[in-house]
Amino acid sequence: MRQAANARQRRLLSGILMLILAGCGGDKPQPGSEAPAEPVVVYSARAEQLIRPIFDAYTAETGVPIRYTTDSEQPLIQKLLAEGETTPADLLITVDAGNLWYAAEQGALRPTWSEVLESNIPAHLRDPENMWFGLSVRARTIVYDTRDVDPSELTDYRGLADEKWRDRLCLRTSEKVYNQSLVAMLIADYGEEETERTVRGWVANLATDVFSNDTSLIEAMAAGQCDVGIVNTYYFGRLQKENPEIPVAIFWPSAETGGVHVNVSGAGVTRHAKNADGARALLEWMSSETAQKLLGGENMEYPANPAVDAHPLVAAWGTFEPNPMNVAQAGAYQADAVRLMDRAGYR
Ligand code: FE
Repeated sequence: MRQAANARQRRLLSGILMLILAGCGGDKPQPGSEAPAEPVVVYSARAEQLIRPIFDAYTAETGVPIRYTTDSEQPLIQKLLAEGETTPADLLITVDAGNLWYAAEQGALRPTWSEVLESNIPAHLRDPENMWFGLSVRARTIVYDTRDVDPSELTDYRGLADEKWRDRLCLRTSEKVYNQSLVAMLIADYGEEETERTVRGWVANLATDVFSNDTSLIEAMAAGQCDVGIVNTYYFGRLQKENPEIPVAIFWPSAETGGVHVNVSGAGVTRHAKNADGARALLEWMSSETAQKLLGGENMEYPANPAVDAHPLVAAWGTFEPNPMNVAQAGAYQADAVRLMDRAGYR
């Protein structure tokens, strides 16, 4: 049924295309004038204020216009899937390897072969089949109230299940894919049994209801509501930029205890892209120094391209050892992570 419908759609589309081409027959380009560059259409789960300066810089440099739609991750991916062959989107930009993995798994993306991307983006930050490429790295780590906690009391994510943190822990909701990916990493490293013990311990230690976002979690900590928590560092960076005296600090779990959970924001060319070459060129440019500085600098994330320096405030938090798991693996344990958190009563 579906295939027949698709074949009909294709015939209809090629018919329309022929009519358009026929109509353009007598329209020879004027001497000296260049054909206008074909626009690239982007679906972006990254906020407009973040991506717009990047797109503007690209258009200024190349003359290629970019049309984009922004929305939250899942609605955007569902839209892309529902549109199928008729989607206008050439490139999908989203956060979290879990989402990128899902989009690829559902057949919304196509592989991109590019020497530029392979040299700019380290292998562990891209899909093994080149369906998507990480563009920035985000670290999800432990934060603590500097008034009540000595960093020597901290170890790793599992340590937050210790009863010494009873009524002292703040967590964001388990519905956020960031926490699903974190728990997926713990499952990959320690297995389901130990991870479930950890998550049950977290739930027992909660100081208050789970938060809907990392920013309000950090604000609650600064207000004295809890002593330890887990957040993406860029949220802390934004608050620290506004208030350098904020009584919260970052703790990096050491490599011996599994290192720091990292994830990516990234992008992939859509399966039904009409302008796949344009999308690839934009993606390559986004991995270059100019764009990587904009991405890292604006949002206080870590550039995925190791040749580009992080924002000075971010660099001041010191270096950390990322968990060596390829970020693509997080996706494979995502469903297990969701079930496990549910069993453990983590809302
Ligand atoms: Fe975020």
